[in-house]
Amino acid sequence: MHQVFLKAVPILEKIEKAGYEAYFVGGSVRDYLLGKDIDDVDIATSALPEEVKAIFPKTVDVGIEHGTILVLYKGTAYEVTTFRTDGEYKDFRHPERVTFIRSLHEDLKRRDFTMNAIAMDKTGKIIDPFNGKQDLTDKRIRTVGKAEERFQEDALRIMRGVRFVSQLGFEMEEATYRALEEYAPLLIHIAVERIYAEFSKLLEGEFLSKALTLLVDARIHHYLPELAEYEKEIKKVAELCEATRLGEEELWALLLYLCNPKNDEKFLRAWKMPVKKIREIRDIKAAVLRREKEDWSEEMLYRTGLKIAIQAEKVYRTLKRIPFSGFPQKLEALYESLAIHNRKELAITGYDLMQWYNKKSGPWIKEMLENIERAVLNREVENDKARIKEWLQP
Ligand code: ATP
Ligand code: MG
Repeated sequence: MHQVFLKAVPILEKIEKAGYEAYFVGGSVRDYLLGKDIDDVDIATSALPEEVKAIFPKTVDVGIEHGTILVLYKGTAYEVTTFRTDGEYKDFRHPERVTFIRSLHEDLKRRDFTMNAIAMDKTGKIIDPFNGKQDLTDKRIRTVGKAEERFQEDALRIMRGVRFVSQLGFEMEEATYRALEEYAPLLIHIAVERIYAEFSKLLEGEFLSKALTLLVDARIHHYLPELAEYEKEIKKVAELCEATRLGEEELWALLLYLCNPKNDEKFLRAWKMPVKKIREIRDIKAAVLRREKEDWSEEMLYRTGLKIAIQAEKVYRTLKRIPFSGFPQKLEALYESLAIHNRKELAITGYDLMQWYNKKSGPWIKEMLENIERAVLNREVENDKARIKEWLQP
């Protein structure tokens, strides 16, 4: 068994000693069977939340209404969730209420895909009532039970399915694919935040091209914020990304560049992403547009900042199909060699100007500082107080 599981075995043992069942479940078991890295494990148990709390001295209620208790054990936090079935689904989203149960099998049955419905006990024995292991071997994504029913219950599973295609490169089993296509319109009932969380993971997947192609072929983009009109552009991203690896913000910038919506801010806001991310994506796009007109000059790199410049150059090269080799080092070296890297590094301040000219503060200071900044950057004058004074001749 993997080290991460071994460390958590005492938790299963303590729960069992108290007279309940406990297993490893979910993504960690799936990733372990795939031989992938795992960093946290999820535990499912027949013990009710209150019963879990009674067993462990240190717990936190994180999602007690869903049956999840955080157990703190030897410096690590473990999510321990009571076996449950999801009650009635209303409006194709969250179930009305969950019902706690004592049967592992019933708990596995409510999970989305067969590969996510595998449990492992403390000895490493696999409990796999829906043949998830076989699907992992065959690289196939298949819902637990009838796909039409499962996607109607919770349409987010459609996005999760495409996200797993992106992460794992698997194929959709036929009936699962057909249902995915048929019920994609139900995605409009799902909270954008939940869709965005899955879409972010999708963008970072190794098999992004495949996932985006599937997304468009199944017409899922019609039911995602702002993307309905952009089939061609999404396909273009899929095509361009086959050769390169871009980070999430870079991909959004590429998408934004290609879609070129009337209002970039509105386009990104519709996804309810953090404001900071929106700003970063727009900065990258703006830098790509500048980069199309000219190669990096010292002043352009100074104004853009190294981080955004590298991201923009990646997007630019992706668009123009130029290989990535060597460019970050070149930009880094150019950045290092700049006379200054920000306004604070300037050898003089507005206060110096007020003294030299014996004038009160005002808009003239900002203007003059900008001129000095540009002159220093372009090496018309050295970044040195005396030299700048000489150059200004106040
Ligand atoms: P990741 O490795 O990205 O965390 P994951 O499969 O663990 O992927 P989680 O969102 O952490 O995804 O969910 C944990 C488990 O809960 C899943 O493996 C699955 O069994 C179940 N699950 C999560 N979301 C749903 C859903 N919408 N419908 C049914 N089961 C779900
Ligand atoms: Mg998980």
